[in-house]
Amino acid sequence: MAALNNGDSASVNKLPSVKFTKLFINGEFQDSVSGKTFESIDPRTGDVIARISEGDKEDVDIAVRAARYAFDFGPWPRMSGADRGKILMKWAELIDEHAEELATLDAIDAGKLYHICKNLEVPAAANTLRYYAGAADKVHGEVLKMSRQFHAYTLLEPVGVVGHITPWNFPNTMFYIKVAPSLAAGCTMVVKPAEQTPLSALYNAHLAKLAGIPDGVVNVVTGFGPTAGAALSSHMDVDKVSFTGSTQTGREIMQAAAKSNLKQVSLELGGKSPLIIFDDADIDKAVELALIGILYNKGEVCVASSRVFVQEGIYDEFEKKLVEKAKAWVVGDPFDPKVQQGPQVDKEQFEKILSYIEHGKREGATLLTGGKTVGNKGYFIEPTIFSDIKEDMLIAQDEIFGPVMALKKFKTIDEAIKSANNTKYGLAAGIVTKNLDTANTLSRSIRAGTVWINCYLAFGDDVPFGGYKMSGFGKDHGLEALHKYLQVKSVVTPLYNSPW
Ligand code: NAD
Repeated sequence: MAALNNGDSASVNKLPSVKFTKLFINGEFQDSVSGKTFESIDPRTGDVIARISEGDKEDVDIAVRAARYAFDFGPWPRMSGADRGKILMKWAELIDEHAEELATLDAIDAGKLYHICKNLEVPAAANTLRYYAGAADKVHGEVLKMSRQFHAYTLLEPVGVVGHITPWNFPNTMFYIKVAPSLAAGCTMVVKPAEQTPLSALYNAHLAKLAGIPDGVVNVVTGFGPTAGAALSSHMDVDKVSFTGSTQTGREIMQAAAKSNLKQVSLELGGKSPLIIFDDADIDKAVELALIGILYNKGEVCVASSRVFVQEGIYDEFEKKLVEKAKAWVVGDPFDPKVQQGPQVDKEQFEKILSYIEHGKREGATLLTGGKTVGNKGYFIEPTIFSDIKEDMLIAQDEIFGPVMALKKFKTIDEAIKSANNTKYGLAAGIVTKNLDTANTLSRSIRAGTVWINCYLAFGDDVPFGGYKMSGFGKDHGLEALHKYLQVKSVVTPLYNSPW
Protein backbone atom coordinates (compact mmCIF):
# COMPACT_ATOMS: atom_id res chain seq x y z
CA MET A 1 0.00 0.00 0.00
CA ALA A 2 1.20 3.52 -0.74
CA ALA A 3 2.47 5.34 2.30
CA LEU A 4 0.55 8.31 3.66
CA ASN A 5 2.75 11.19 4.54
CA ASN A 6 0.95 13.92 6.40
CA GLY A 7 3.72 16.40 5.90
CA ASP A 8 5.58 18.32 8.55
CA SER A 9 4.55 21.39 10.48
CA ALA A 10 6.28 23.59 7.89
CA SER A 11 3.60 22.64 5.41
CA VAL A 12 0.91 24.27 7.55
CA ASN A 13 2.86 27.51 7.48
CA LYS A 14 2.56 27.41 3.72
CA LEU A 15 -1.14 28.19 3.97
CA PRO A 16 -1.38 31.38 1.97
CA SER A 17 -3.37 34.45 2.73
CA VAL A 18 -5.32 34.72 -0.52
CA LYS A 19 -4.96 38.31 -1.73
CA PHE A 20 -7.09 38.28 -4.86
CA THR A 21 -10.62 36.90 -4.79
CA LYS A 22 -12.57 39.22 -7.10
CA LEU A 23 -13.15 39.44 -10.83
CA PHE A 24 -10.46 41.35 -12.72
CA ILE A 25 -12.07 43.58 -15.33
CA ASN A 26 -10.61 46.59 -17.11
CA GLY A 27 -7.60 46.63 -14.82
CA GLU A 28 -9.55 46.56 -11.54
CA PHE A 29 -10.53 43.84 -9.09
CA GLN A 30 -14.28 44.04 -8.55
CA ASP A 31 -17.26 42.17 -7.12
CA SER A 32 -19.58 40.30 -9.44
CA VAL A 33 -22.81 42.10 -10.39
CA SER A 34 -24.85 39.65 -8.31
CA GLY A 35 -22.44 39.93 -5.38
CA LYS A 36 -22.45 36.13 -5.21
CA THR A 37 -19.35 34.14 -4.25
CA PHE A 38 -18.31 30.49 -4.34
CA GLU A 39 -15.91 28.45 -2.22
CA SER A 40 -12.41 27.47 -3.19
CA ILE A 41 -11.60 24.22 -1.38
CA ASP A 42 -8.33 22.79 -0.04
CA PRO A 43 -8.32 19.18 -1.36
CA ARG A 44 -6.03 18.05 1.48
CA THR A 45 -8.83 18.59 3.96
CA GLY A 46 -12.01 19.66 2.20
CA ASP A 47 -11.82 22.98 4.10
CA VAL A 48 -12.65 26.32 2.51
CA ILE A 49 -9.58 28.35 1.51
CA ALA A 50 -11.36 31.48 0.30
CA ARG A 51 -14.61 32.77 -1.16
CA ILE A 52 -14.29 33.86 -4.78
CA SER A 53 -16.54 36.24 -6.75
CA GLU A 54 -18.97 34.29 -8.89
CA GLY A 55 -19.14 35.84 -12.34
CA ASP A 56 -22.16 35.20 -14.56
CA LYS A 57 -23.48 36.41 -17.91
CA GLU A 58 -23.65 40.09 -16.91
CA ASP A 59 -20.04 40.03 -15.69
CA VAL A 60 -18.92 38.32 -18.89
CA ASP A 61 -20.74 41.06 -20.85
CA ILE A 62 -18.88 43.77 -18.93
CA ALA A 63 -15.53 42.00 -19.34
CA VAL A 64 -16.09 41.43 -23.09
CA ARG A 65 -17.02 45.11 -23.48
CA ALA A 66 -13.73 46.07 -21.82
CA ALA A 67 -11.78 43.66 -24.04
CA ARG A 68 -13.64 44.86 -27.14
CA TYR A 69 -12.88 48.50 -26.37
CA ALA A 70 -9.23 47.67 -25.71
CA PHE A 71 -9.06 45.84 -29.03
CA ASP A 72 -10.92 48.41 -31.14
CA PHE A 73 -9.40 51.56 -29.65
CA GLY A 74 -6.63 50.68 -27.19
CA PRO A 75 -2.86 50.62 -27.67
CA TRP A 76 -2.23 46.87 -27.41
CA PRO A 77 -3.08 45.71 -30.96
CA ARG A 78 -1.56 48.92 -32.36
CA MET A 79 1.83 48.92 -30.66
CA SER A 80 4.81 47.27 -32.32
CA GLY A 81 5.44 43.61 -31.69
CA ALA A 82 8.76 44.56 -30.11
CA ASP A 83 6.98 46.78 -27.55
CA ARG A 84 4.48 44.04 -26.75
CA GLY A 85 7.42 41.68 -26.36
CA LYS A 86 9.10 43.99 -23.82
CA ILE A 87 6.00 43.99 -21.62
CA LEU A 88 5.70 40.20 -21.85
CA MET A 89 9.38 39.88 -20.86
CA LYS A 90 8.73 42.07 -17.83
CA TRP A 91 5.75 39.91 -16.89
CA ALA A 92 7.97 36.81 -17.14
CA GLU A 93 10.41 38.38 -14.65
CA LEU A 94 7.50 39.02 -12.29
CA ILE A 95 6.46 35.37 -12.48
CA ASP A 96 9.96 34.34 -11.43
CA GLU A 97 9.87 36.83 -8.55
CA HIS A 98 6.47 35.56 -7.39
CA ALA A 99 7.14 31.85 -8.02
CA GLU A 100 6.62 30.95 -4.38
CA GLU A 101 3.18 32.58 -4.19
CA LEU A 102 2.04 31.08 -7.51
CA ALA A 103 3.29 27.61 -6.56
CA THR A 104 1.58 27.86 -3.18
CA LEU A 105 -1.74 28.85 -4.74
CA ASP A 106 -1.73 25.94 -7.20
CA ALA A 107 -0.62 23.50 -4.50
CA ILE A 108 -3.39 24.50 -2.10
CA ASP A 109 -6.10 24.95 -4.74
CA ALA A 110 -5.41 21.92 -6.92
CA GLY A 111 -3.43 19.59 -4.60
CA LYS A 112 -0.38 19.87 -6.87
CA LEU A 113 3.12 19.20 -5.53
CA TYR A 114 4.51 22.51 -4.27
CA HIS A 115 8.15 21.83 -5.15
CA ILE A 116 7.26 20.70 -8.69
CA CYS A 117 5.19 23.86 -9.18
CA LYS A 118 7.87 26.13 -7.77
CA ASN A 119 10.86 24.57 -9.53
CA LEU A 120 9.34 23.31 -12.75
CA GLU A 121 5.85 24.46 -13.73
CA VAL A 122 5.99 28.12 -12.63
CA PRO A 123 9.44 28.77 -14.21
CA ALA A 124 8.17 27.00 -17.35
CA ALA A 125 5.21 29.40 -17.45
CA ALA A 126 7.62 32.36 -17.34
CA ASN A 127 9.53 30.81 -20.24
CA THR A 128 6.30 30.41 -22.20
CA LEU A 129 5.85 34.18 -21.95
CA ARG A 130 9.47 34.70 -23.01
CA TYR A 131 9.06 32.42 -26.03
CA TYR A 132 6.07 34.41 -27.31
CA ALA A 133 7.66 37.74 -26.32
CA GLY A 134 10.45 36.81 -28.74
CA ALA A 135 7.93 35.88 -31.44
CA ALA A 136 5.79 39.03 -31.15
CA ASP A 137 7.92 41.07 -33.56
CA LYS A 138 8.26 38.26 -36.10
CA VAL A 139 4.66 38.25 -37.25
CA HIS A 140 4.48 39.18 -40.89
CA GLY A 141 2.68 38.26 -44.08
CA GLU A 142 3.98 37.56 -47.56
CA VAL A 143 4.33 39.44 -50.82
CA LEU A 144 2.60 37.46 -53.56
CA LYS A 145 3.26 37.52 -57.27
CA MET A 146 -0.38 37.47 -58.23
CA SER A 147 -0.12 38.44 -61.92
CA ARG A 148 1.54 41.05 -64.06
CA GLN A 149 -1.35 43.43 -63.46
CA PHE A 150 -1.66 43.14 -59.71
CA HIS A 151 0.45 43.39 -56.64
CA ALA A 152 -0.74 41.38 -53.63
CA TYR A 153 0.39 40.86 -50.08
CA THR A 154 -0.97 39.36 -46.89
CA LEU A 155 -1.27 40.93 -43.46
CA LEU A 156 -1.42 38.82 -40.32
CA GLU A 157 -3.87 40.50 -37.98
CA PRO A 158 -4.93 39.58 -34.45
CA VAL A 159 -8.17 37.64 -34.42
CA GLY A 160 -9.76 40.07 -31.93
CA VAL A 161 -11.34 39.38 -28.54
CA VAL A 162 -10.51 35.88 -27.31
CA GLY A 163 -12.31 33.88 -24.62
CA HIS A 164 -9.96 31.47 -22.87
CA ILE A 165 -11.67 28.70 -20.91
CA THR A 166 -9.25 26.60 -18.86
CA PRO A 167 -9.32 23.41 -16.75
CA TRP A 168 -8.18 22.81 -13.18
CA ASN A 169 -5.28 20.39 -13.56
CA PHE A 170 -2.55 22.92 -14.49
CA PRO A 171 -4.14 26.22 -13.45
CA ASN A 172 -1.06 28.42 -13.73
CA THR A 173 0.47 26.67 -16.75
CA MET A 174 -2.81 26.73 -18.68
CA PHE A 175 -3.25 30.43 -18.02
CA TYR A 176 0.03 31.22 -19.74
CA ILE A 177 -0.29 28.64 -22.53
CA LYS A 178 -3.43 30.49 -23.58
CA VAL A 179 -2.67 34.09 -22.68
CA ALA A 180 0.95 34.37 -23.92
CA PRO A 181 0.49 33.59 -27.67
CA SER A 182 -2.77 35.53 -27.91
CA LEU A 183 -1.12 38.59 -26.32
CA ALA A 184 1.86 38.31 -28.65
CA ALA A 185 -0.58 38.24 -31.57
CA GLY A 186 -2.16 41.50 -30.34
CA CYS A 187 -5.47 40.09 -29.12
CA THR A 188 -7.41 41.17 -26.03
CA MET A 189 -9.10 38.58 -23.85
CA VAL A 190 -11.36 37.30 -21.12
CA VAL A 191 -10.07 34.29 -19.18
CA LYS A 192 -12.54 31.98 -17.41
CA PRO A 193 -10.49 29.70 -15.15
CA ALA A 194 -11.93 26.45 -13.80
CA GLU A 195 -14.16 26.99 -10.76
CA GLN A 196 -12.13 24.41 -8.80
CA THR A 197 -8.90 26.42 -9.15
CA PRO A 198 -9.42 30.17 -9.58
CA LEU A 199 -6.63 31.44 -7.30
CA SER A 200 -3.54 31.58 -9.52
CA ALA A 201 -5.44 33.13 -12.45
CA LEU A 202 -6.44 36.08 -10.25
CA TYR A 203 -2.89 36.43 -8.95
CA ASN A 204 -1.69 36.42 -12.58
CA ALA A 205 -4.11 39.24 -13.39
CA HIS A 206 -2.38 41.27 -10.68
CA LEU A 207 1.01 40.49 -12.27
CA ALA A 208 -0.34 41.54 -15.69
CA LYS A 209 -1.16 44.94 -14.27
CA LEU A 210 2.26 45.24 -12.61
CA ALA A 211 3.94 44.33 -15.91
CA GLY A 212 2.17 47.15 -17.72
CA ILE A 213 -0.47 45.28 -19.71
CA PRO A 214 -2.99 48.04 -20.57
CA ASP A 215 -6.39 47.97 -18.87
CA GLY A 216 -9.00 45.84 -20.61
CA VAL A 217 -6.48 43.66 -22.45
CA VAL A 218 -6.49 40.78 -19.94
CA ASN A 219 -9.69 40.26 -17.94
CA VAL A 220 -10.40 37.34 -15.62
CA VAL A 221 -13.96 36.26 -14.80
CA THR A 222 -14.13 33.51 -12.21
CA GLY A 223 -17.30 31.43 -12.08
CA PHE A 224 -18.92 28.22 -13.25
CA GLY A 225 -18.92 26.56 -16.67
CA PRO A 226 -22.63 26.44 -17.53
CA THR A 227 -23.01 30.13 -16.57
CA ALA A 228 -19.84 32.22 -17.03
CA GLY A 229 -18.17 29.75 -19.43
CA ALA A 230 -21.30 29.34 -21.57
CA ALA A 231 -21.80 33.14 -21.66
CA LEU A 232 -18.32 33.49 -23.11
CA SER A 233 -18.67 30.76 -25.73
CA SER A 234 -22.04 32.07 -26.91
CA HIS A 235 -21.11 35.77 -26.77
CA MET A 236 -21.76 37.69 -30.00
CA ASP A 237 -18.74 39.93 -29.52
CA VAL A 238 -16.11 37.28 -28.82
CA ASP A 239 -14.13 36.40 -31.95
CA LYS A 240 -12.55 33.18 -30.79
CA VAL A 241 -12.78 30.69 -27.94
CA SER A 242 -9.69 28.75 -27.00
CA PHE A 243 -10.76 25.90 -24.74
CA THR A 244 -8.97 23.21 -22.77
CA GLY A 245 -11.10 20.72 -20.90
CA SER A 246 -13.27 17.67 -21.36
CA THR A 247 -14.52 16.37 -24.69
CA GLN A 248 -18.12 16.76 -23.55
CA THR A 249 -17.67 20.45 -22.73
CA GLY A 250 -15.76 20.93 -26.00
CA ARG A 251 -18.82 19.70 -27.86
CA GLU A 252 -21.03 22.20 -26.00
CA ILE A 253 -18.64 25.04 -26.75
CA MET A 254 -18.62 24.24 -30.45
CA GLN A 255 -22.40 24.17 -30.48
CA ALA A 256 -22.57 27.52 -28.65
CA ALA A 257 -20.11 29.04 -31.14
CA ALA A 258 -22.14 27.73 -34.07
CA LYS A 259 -25.42 29.01 -32.64
CA SER A 260 -24.07 32.49 -31.84
CA ASN A 261 -21.64 34.31 -34.14
CA LEU A 262 -19.72 31.36 -35.65
CA LYS A 263 -16.69 32.40 -33.65
CA GLN A 264 -13.51 30.44 -34.22
CA VAL A 265 -12.95 27.59 -31.79
CA SER A 266 -9.91 25.60 -30.79
CA LEU A 267 -10.31 22.60 -28.53
CA GLU A 268 -7.72 20.79 -26.40
CA LEU A 269 -9.69 17.88 -24.99
CA GLY A 270 -9.37 14.59 -23.19
CA GLY A 271 -7.18 11.57 -23.83
CA LYS A 272 -6.61 7.88 -23.12
CA SER A 273 -3.00 7.73 -24.17
CA PRO A 274 -1.14 4.47 -24.81
CA LEU A 275 2.43 3.73 -23.72
CA ILE A 276 3.85 0.78 -25.67
CA ILE A 277 6.87 -1.02 -24.28
CA PHE A 278 8.78 -3.50 -26.44
CA ASP A 279 10.88 -6.51 -25.41
CA ASP A 280 14.17 -4.70 -26.12
CA ALA A 281 13.41 -1.88 -23.66
CA ASP A 282 15.47 -1.11 -20.58
CA ILE A 283 12.91 -2.43 -18.10
CA ASP A 284 13.82 -0.11 -15.20
CA LYS A 285 13.59 2.94 -17.43
CA ALA A 286 10.30 1.74 -18.89
CA VAL A 287 8.87 1.26 -15.39
CA GLU A 288 9.88 4.83 -14.48
CA LEU A 289 8.25 6.22 -17.62
CA ALA A 290 5.05 4.25 -17.07
CA LEU A 291 4.77 5.42 -13.46
CA ILE A 292 5.52 9.07 -14.15
CA GLY A 293 3.22 8.87 -17.16
CA ILE A 294 0.24 7.91 -15.04
CA LEU A 295 1.11 9.36 -11.62
CA TYR A 296 2.46 12.82 -12.48
CA ASN A 297 -0.01 15.32 -11.04
CA LYS A 298 -1.94 12.31 -9.53
CA GLY A 299 -3.06 11.20 -12.97
CA GLU A 300 -4.95 14.43 -13.58
CA VAL A 301 -3.10 14.93 -16.85
CA CYS A 302 -4.74 14.96 -20.27
CA VAL A 303 -1.84 12.91 -21.74
CA ALA A 304 -1.59 10.46 -18.80
CA SER A 305 -0.32 7.05 -19.93
CA SER A 306 -3.48 5.39 -18.72
CA ARG A 307 -3.12 2.38 -21.07
CA VAL A 308 0.21 0.56 -20.91
CA PHE A 309 0.92 -2.24 -23.41
CA VAL A 310 3.94 -4.44 -22.68
CA GLN A 311 5.41 -7.08 -25.01
CA GLU A 312 5.18 -10.63 -23.72
CA GLY A 313 8.94 -11.31 -23.43
CA ILE A 314 9.42 -8.79 -20.60
CA TYR A 315 5.86 -8.57 -19.34
CA ASP A 316 6.25 -10.57 -16.10
CA GLU A 317 9.41 -8.80 -14.96
CA PHE A 318 7.96 -5.40 -15.93
CA GLU A 319 4.75 -6.05 -14.00
CA LYS A 320 6.63 -7.16 -10.87
CA LYS A 321 8.89 -4.09 -10.84
CA LEU A 322 6.04 -1.73 -11.66
CA VAL A 323 3.92 -2.97 -8.78
CA GLU A 324 6.83 -2.81 -6.32
CA LYS A 325 7.48 0.82 -7.21
CA ALA A 326 3.81 1.79 -7.17
CA LYS A 327 3.49 0.33 -3.64
CA ALA A 328 6.40 2.48 -2.47
CA TRP A 329 4.98 5.66 -4.03
CA VAL A 330 4.48 8.32 -1.35
CA VAL A 331 1.02 9.89 -1.18
CA GLY A 332 0.41 12.84 1.12
CA ASP A 333 0.69 16.55 1.78
CA PRO A 334 1.77 18.26 -1.45
CA PHE A 335 3.95 20.71 0.51
CA ASP A 336 6.15 17.89 1.84
CA PRO A 337 9.17 17.43 -0.50
CA LYS A 338 9.20 13.67 0.15
CA VAL A 339 5.66 13.29 -1.19
CA GLN A 340 5.21 12.13 -4.80
CA GLN A 341 1.43 12.42 -5.09
CA GLY A 342 -1.02 14.87 -3.53
CA PRO A 343 -4.82 14.74 -3.24
CA GLN A 344 -7.19 14.65 -6.23
CA VAL A 345 -8.56 18.08 -7.03
CA ASP A 346 -11.98 17.79 -5.36
CA LYS A 347 -14.62 15.47 -3.94
CA GLU A 348 -16.34 15.02 -7.29
CA GLN A 349 -13.15 13.93 -9.05
CA PHE A 350 -12.20 11.72 -6.06
CA GLU A 351 -15.55 9.92 -6.17
CA LYS A 352 -15.47 9.59 -9.95
CA ILE A 353 -12.06 7.87 -9.81
CA LEU A 354 -13.17 5.52 -7.02
CA SER A 355 -16.27 4.56 -8.97
CA TYR A 356 -14.12 3.68 -12.01
CA ILE A 357 -11.94 1.52 -9.75
CA GLU A 358 -15.04 -0.33 -8.53
CA HIS A 359 -16.17 -0.67 -12.13
CA GLY A 360 -12.79 -2.16 -13.12
CA LYS A 361 -13.12 -4.80 -10.38
CA ARG A 362 -16.67 -5.64 -11.46
CA GLU A 363 -15.62 -5.84 -15.12
CA GLY A 364 -13.16 -8.61 -14.15
CA ALA A 365 -9.83 -6.80 -14.45
CA THR A 366 -7.19 -7.91 -11.92
CA LEU A 367 -6.36 -5.27 -9.32
CA LEU A 368 -2.58 -5.60 -8.91
CA THR A 369 -2.17 -2.80 -6.39
CA GLY A 370 -3.97 0.23 -4.95
CA GLY A 371 -7.65 0.86 -5.34
CA LYS A 372 -8.22 2.43 -1.94
CA THR A 373 -8.34 5.88 -0.44
CA VAL A 374 -5.43 7.09 1.72
CA GLY A 375 -5.93 8.74 5.13
CA ASN A 376 -9.25 9.78 6.62
CA LYS A 377 -9.63 13.29 5.29
CA GLY A 378 -9.04 14.99 1.97
CA TYR A 379 -9.11 13.31 -1.43
CA PHE A 380 -6.11 10.96 -1.53
CA ILE A 381 -6.14 7.78 -3.66
CA GLU A 382 -3.54 5.02 -3.90
CA PRO A 383 -1.68 4.50 -7.18
CA THR A 384 -3.83 1.83 -8.79
CA ILE A 385 -2.87 -0.73 -11.44
CA PHE A 386 -5.20 -3.13 -13.20
CA SER A 387 -4.04 -6.00 -15.42
CA ASP A 388 -5.90 -8.59 -17.54
CA ILE A 389 -7.58 -5.75 -19.35
CA LYS A 390 -10.03 -6.31 -22.17
CA GLU A 391 -10.04 -3.39 -24.51
CA ASP A 392 -13.77 -2.83 -24.40
CA MET A 393 -13.74 -2.42 -20.61
CA LEU A 394 -14.78 1.01 -19.38
CA ILE A 395 -11.44 1.44 -17.57
CA ALA A 396 -9.65 0.87 -20.89
CA GLN A 397 -11.82 3.30 -22.83
CA ASP A 398 -12.90 6.17 -20.57
CA GLU A 399 -10.65 8.99 -19.44
CA ILE A 400 -10.51 8.41 -15.67
CA PHE A 401 -8.22 11.37 -14.97
CA GLY A 402 -6.72 9.79 -11.88
CA PRO A 403 -3.88 7.49 -10.75
CA VAL A 404 -5.33 4.40 -12.45
CA MET A 405 -3.40 2.38 -15.04
CA ALA A 406 -4.75 -0.32 -17.35
CA LEU A 407 -1.96 -2.80 -18.15
CA LYS A 408 -2.06 -5.29 -21.05
CA LYS A 409 0.29 -7.82 -22.65
CA PHE A 410 0.85 -7.90 -26.44
CA LYS A 411 2.73 -10.13 -28.87
CA THR A 412 3.29 -8.41 -32.23
CA ILE A 413 3.88 -4.89 -33.48
CA ASP A 414 0.61 -5.00 -35.45
CA GLU A 415 -1.30 -5.95 -32.33
CA ALA A 416 0.31 -3.02 -30.48
CA ILE A 417 -0.70 -0.55 -33.19
CA LYS A 418 -4.26 -1.86 -33.24
CA SER A 419 -4.56 -1.62 -29.46
CA ALA A 420 -3.01 1.86 -29.32
CA ASN A 421 -5.52 3.17 -31.84
CA ASN A 422 -8.49 1.45 -30.21
CA THR A 423 -9.77 4.66 -28.62
CA LYS A 424 -11.89 7.61 -29.58
CA TYR A 425 -9.07 9.88 -28.35
CA GLY A 426 -5.80 10.83 -30.04
CA LEU A 427 -3.88 13.17 -27.79
CA ALA A 428 -0.51 11.47 -27.19
CA ALA A 429 1.34 8.16 -27.18
CA GLY A 430 4.65 6.79 -25.93
CA ILE A 431 6.92 4.09 -27.40
CA VAL A 432 9.80 2.45 -25.56
CA THR A 433 12.21 0.49 -27.77
CA LYS A 434 15.81 0.52 -28.94
CA ASN A 435 14.78 -0.50 -32.45
CA LEU A 436 14.65 2.48 -34.79
CA ASP A 437 12.43 0.69 -37.32
CA THR A 438 9.91 -0.17 -34.63
CA ALA A 439 9.92 3.39 -33.30
CA ASN A 440 9.48 4.91 -36.74
CA THR A 441 6.76 2.50 -37.76
CA LEU A 442 4.81 3.08 -34.56
CA SER A 443 5.17 6.85 -34.59
CA ARG A 444 3.62 6.97 -38.07
CA SER A 445 0.90 4.44 -37.34
CA ILE A 446 -0.53 5.86 -34.13
CA ARG A 447 -3.19 8.48 -34.61
CA ALA A 448 -2.21 10.99 -31.94
CA GLY A 449 -1.02 14.60 -31.91
CA THR A 450 2.20 13.85 -29.99
CA VAL A 451 4.35 10.70 -29.97
CA TRP A 452 7.13 10.36 -27.42
CA ILE A 453 9.90 7.86 -28.19
CA ASN A 454 11.84 6.66 -25.13
CA CYS A 455 10.48 9.54 -23.06
CA TYR A 456 7.12 10.73 -21.81
CA LEU A 457 5.55 14.07 -20.82
CA ALA A 458 8.34 15.91 -22.65
CA PHE A 459 6.89 19.31 -23.54
CA GLY A 460 8.57 22.34 -25.08
CA ASP A 461 7.38 25.87 -25.77
CA ASP A 462 8.40 25.43 -29.41
CA VAL A 463 6.80 22.00 -29.84
CA PRO A 464 3.16 22.14 -31.03
CA PHE A 465 0.76 20.23 -28.82
CA GLY A 466 -2.82 19.18 -29.55
CA GLY A 467 -5.08 16.31 -30.39
CA TYR A 468 -6.29 14.08 -33.18
CA LYS A 469 -9.77 12.55 -33.24
CA MET A 470 -11.96 13.44 -30.24
CA SER A 471 -9.01 14.97 -28.39
CA GLY A 472 -9.75 18.15 -30.32
CA PHE A 473 -8.08 20.41 -32.86
CA GLY A 474 -5.89 23.50 -32.92
CA LYS A 475 -2.47 23.51 -31.31
CA ASP A 476 -1.10 25.00 -28.13
CA HIS A 477 2.64 25.75 -27.90
CA GLY A 478 4.91 26.63 -30.78
CA LEU A 479 4.36 29.12 -33.55
CA GLU A 480 1.20 27.15 -34.41
CA ALA A 481 -0.38 28.58 -31.25
CA LEU A 482 0.62 32.12 -32.21
CA HIS A 483 -0.96 31.62 -35.63
CA LYS A 484 -4.22 30.39 -34.19
CA TYR A 485 -4.69 33.91 -32.75
CA LEU A 486 -3.91 35.56 -36.10
CA GLN A 487 -5.97 35.85 -39.25
CA VAL A 488 -4.77 36.44 -42.78
CA LYS A 489 -5.90 39.47 -44.74
CA SER A 490 -5.11 39.57 -48.46
CA VAL A 491 -4.51 43.00 -49.96
CA VAL A 492 -4.56 43.41 -53.72
CA THR A 493 -3.71 46.52 -55.69
CA PRO A 494 -3.41 47.12 -59.46
CA LEU A 495 -0.06 47.95 -60.96
CA TYR A 496 0.67 50.70 -63.47
CA ASN A 497 -0.66 49.64 -66.87
CA SER A 498 -3.28 47.45 -65.32
CA PRO A 499 -6.66 47.37 -67.15
CA TRP A 500 -8.18 48.43 -63.76
P1 NAD B 1 -14.38 20.64 -17.97
O1 NAD B 1 -14.68 20.49 -19.41
O2 NAD B 1 -15.37 20.19 -16.99
O3 NAD B 1 -14.09 22.16 -17.60
C1 NAD B 1 -13.11 22.92 -18.28
C2 NAD B 1 -13.52 24.37 -18.27
O4 NAD B 1 -14.74 24.50 -19.02
C3 NAD B 1 -13.82 24.94 -16.88
O5 NAD B 1 -13.35 26.26 -16.83
C4 NAD B 1 -15.33 24.89 -16.81
O6 NAD B 1 -15.89 25.85 -15.95
C5 NAD B 1 -15.70 25.21 -18.25
N1 NAD B 1 -17.02 24.75 -18.66
C6 NAD B 1 -17.74 23.70 -18.17
N2 NAD B 1 -18.94 23.62 -18.81
C7 NAD B 1 -18.96 24.62 -19.72
C8 NAD B 1 -19.91 25.06 -20.68
N3 NAD B 1 -21.08 24.44 -20.85
N4 NAD B 1 -19.60 26.10 -21.46
C9 NAD B 1 -18.41 26.74 -21.34
N5 NAD B 1 -17.48 26.39 -20.43
C10 NAD B 1 -17.74 25.34 -19.63
O7 NAD B 1 -12.98 19.93 -17.78
P2 NAD B 1 -12.20 19.77 -16.41
O8 NAD B 1 -12.88 18.69 -15.66
O9 NAD B 1 -11.97 21.09 -15.76
O10 NAD B 1 -10.78 19.30 -16.93
C11 NAD B 1 -10.49 18.01 -17.18
C12 NAD B 1 -10.53 17.73 -18.65
O11 NAD B 1 -9.65 18.61 -19.34
C13 NAD B 1 -10.06 16.35 -18.99
O12 NAD B 1 -10.90 15.78 -19.95
C14 NAD B 1 -8.68 16.59 -19.58
O13 NAD B 1 -8.23 15.60 -20.44
C15 NAD B 1 -8.87 17.88 -20.25
N6 NAD B 1 -7.57 18.54 -20.46
C16 NAD B 1 -7.08 18.58 -21.72
C17 NAD B 1 -5.83 19.15 -21.96
C18 NAD B 1 -5.29 19.23 -23.34
O14 NAD B 1 -4.36 20.02 -23.55
N7 NAD B 1 -5.79 18.49 -24.31
C19 NAD B 1 -5.11 19.68 -20.90
C20 NAD B 1 -5.64 19.61 -19.61
C21 NAD B 1 -6.89 19.03 -19.42
